[in-house]
Amino acid sequence: MKKSPLSSQVTPLSPRRPSRSEAEDAVRTLIAWSGDNPARPGLEKTPARVSDAFGEYFSGYGADPIAELEAGTFDDPSAYDDMVLLKGINFESHCEHHIAPFFGVAHVAYRPKDRVVGLSKIARVVDIFARRLQTQERLSGEIAAALMEGLDAKGVAIMMTARHHCMAARGAQQPHVETVTFRFLGDFEHDSELRARFTAAVRE
Ligand SMILES: [Zn+2]
Repeated sequence: MKKSPLSSQVTPLSPRRPSRSEAEDAVRTLIAWSGDNPARPGLEKTPARVSDAFGEYFSGYGADPIAELEAGTFDDPSAYDDMVLLKGINFESHCEHHIAPFFGVAHVAYRPKDRVVGLSKIARVVDIFARRLQTQERLSGEIAAALMEGLDAKGVAIMMTARHHCMAARGAQQPHVETVTFRFLGDFEHDSELRARFTAAVRE
């Protein structure tokens, strides 16, 4: 099987993964830099908890979305030839600029060529890419590219709406702003009628 450019990106990009105790020391440093005392009783176990939490937030680096998709596709005897749309897939990610959470919903459609995929795999791919340091724009593009490649689809459409903690709690302090991103590939890029049906179905 050919090695895809996406598959090669899923290995950890860090040149050397720090040890667990180095990670906990880094959290202690940030607590002290914030002005608190990392040795006080309430904060003693915080470095361990934060390290555990980072393991969950960023578990996507250890997963291969293309392999997940290839394992979950099957021949479609019905030869279904329209879009398959999943609306309202929840995701939680972290912005790469502030490591602050952003979260919302993804609406994902694909148009199968010969093979269809188990629907839970699409949610899984959203989760894998969300659990990395991201921008919402790149997150939308990476999910679309992985589905296009992993499903050998005729087209893929993505719409994501999210609230960004870094906009709510700092900087512009706009807690109610929702950011919406789109990515259209293949048929959805070239066929404006199909694209319009996708956006209408998402709004229904
Ligand atoms: Zn940010």
